[in-house]
Amino acid sequence: QAKSEGRGTYKFADSNKNRLAQDRLLLGSALHETVSKGQLHLHYQPQIDTMTGALYGVEALARWHHPHLGNIFPSRFIAVAEETGQIAAIGRWSLREACRQMGQWDRDGIHVPTVAVNLSAAHFGDHSVPEYIAGLLRTYDLTPDRLTVEITENVMMESGQTTHDVLQAIRDLGVGLSMDDFGTGYSSLSRLTRLPLTEIKIDRSFINDFEHDTNAQAVTTAVIGIGNRLGMTVVTEGVETEQQRQLLEDLKCDVMQGYLFARPLPADELEKWIRARS
Ligand code: C2E
Ligand code: MG
Ligand code: MG
Ligand code: MG
Repeated sequence: QAKSEGRGTYKFADSNKNRLAQDRLLLGSALHETVSKGQLHLHYQPQIDTMTGALYGVEALARWHHPHLGNIFPSRFIAVAEETGQIAAIGRWSLREACRQMGQWDRDGIHVPTVAVNLSAAHFGDHSVPEYIAGLLRTYDLTPDRLTVEITENVMMESGQTTHDVLQAIRDLGVGLSMDDFGTGYSSLSRLTRLPLTEIKIDRSFINDFEHDTNAQAVTTAVIGIGNRLGMTVVTEGVETEQQRQLLEDLKCDVMQGYLFARPLPADELEKWIRARS
């Protein structure tokens, strides 16, 4: 049972299911207006090339500013949006907004090499998504290598023929395909080779306590080795300390992302961050 604490916080009988049920009521009906009312924004988190320290790219992360409830994080609204079907509109909006912003940065002379956009499983049941992406690249005058699509392991789990075809068609455009949160789902290593992936992102949970967790180090070392052998870029997320960065550099992880470098930032703050570094 959920009950209001009267301070804008809600207490739940520590069950994700209850929380989802509550959020479905609280957020579900408001969700369909997020896109049309301009309540959705993208923040951008820098990704750093380990060897050079240069900006490798950014990941676009959705932020929902609700007029009464305030800022709602994706950990709460994405699951609801997936249930209500709103995720289709949100995903298309995220793709368009990220591509529009890249085009804007190009015109402003701000060099952001790539942008990564998170898409949910629902998009890969839709044969029109690759053409939608191709249209965005044309509209905003971007070469396909400027865009990466991040998928999670549950997309691989549900991978029927349609999913596979849509992923292949996106990859055939020349757009990157990244396996996000790798190591948390139920996918097998053999599936990694059956999808046209260009990148693996090792989940934050492996990096959390990296300095002290020799098991996490062993898994990370192995995944970096496998990724490199398969010709993929290996990214680690959630890098928070200099010690973690140093260890990951020693392991030759290609790209790093985390609070150590920057939090996800609104576009204008990212521009300042880039200028301050150069
Ligand atoms: P993700 O794609 O794995 O994104 C990384 C998450 O880790 C982000 O949370 C980011 O803010 C957080 N993070 C980055 N660096 C650090 C760090 O050093 N330490 C810690 N503790 N956290 C860090 P965020 O923005 O709350 O996003 C949560 C998830 O929501 C994302 O996980 C992604 O799966 C999903 N998401 C975000 N935007 C979208 C979207 O537009 N569409 C879809 N389908 N999913 C989205
Ligand atoms: Mg992601
Ligand atoms: Mg991730
Ligand atoms: Mg994650």
